Amino acid sequence: MNATPEDQRALLDLADLDRRIARAQHAAKNPPQAARVIELTAQRQEQLRELTELSGVRDDRAAELSRIESDVVLAEQRRARDADRLQTVTSPKDAVALEQEIAALGQRLSALEDMQLEAMGAVEDAEASVATQQALIDATTSEGADLSRHAKEHIAQSTAEAEQLGRDRAAVAAQIPDALVSDYDRRAVRIFPAAALLRAGTCEGCRMVLSGTDLTEIRRQPADALVSCPECGGILVRTEESGL
Ligand SMILES: [Zn+2]
Repeated sequence: MNATPEDQRALLDLADLDRRIARAQHAAKNPPQAARVIELTAQRQEQLRELTELSGVRDDRAAELSRIESDVVLAEQRRARDADRLQTVTSPKDAVALEQEIAALGQRLSALEDMQLEAMGAVEDAEASVATQQALIDATTSEGADLSRHAKEHIAQSTAEAEQLGRDRAAVAAQIPDALVSDYDRRAVRIFPAAALLRAGTCEGCRMVLSGTDLTEIRRQPADALVSCPECGGILVRTEESGL
């Protein structure tokens, strides 16, 4: 097929636009934040699992504290009841028994109050651990939300860029004969780029350095002949830089 050198050179613009469109489309599908967002999602799962464990520890310690507090109330009630009975008891033997029990309850209450203080400290520690873990999760969530927003912006920008480049390509293609664009498009299905400059004896599409024999063959072709790269099959566009 034949094409004027000008039309052949216009194919380089088309190839350049196709390269930029492909890059913009790839960028739209692969925002740079995606890997970190996936990492953060996994990290958040792990942090939530740890939060569940820490909340369980806090709940266990709170239950233990409640149990001690109930025991304190029971012992205090019993000691008050014994003290009342001691006022009215007539038998000296019963009075001694009550006094002994009141003394024992006093010791028990003292021990329970120590346990209560210790349990309160343990609950506070567990609550602090839960709060620290929740803050970690909040930070992860916040970083993830920021990155997701940036990723969406990146996708929107890249998509808009690809669309604008698509319009630029249509404008360039409109200036090139249809048959030549069709030839280019057919090659573009399997060759990327489908047209490239022959510069200093090298195909700029596939970077193949053409042999002397290939160059001799290309030299024989008239300027309006469409020449293909013997390596990649793309259209080789000849200019004064071609080294022919
Ligand atoms: Zn090539």
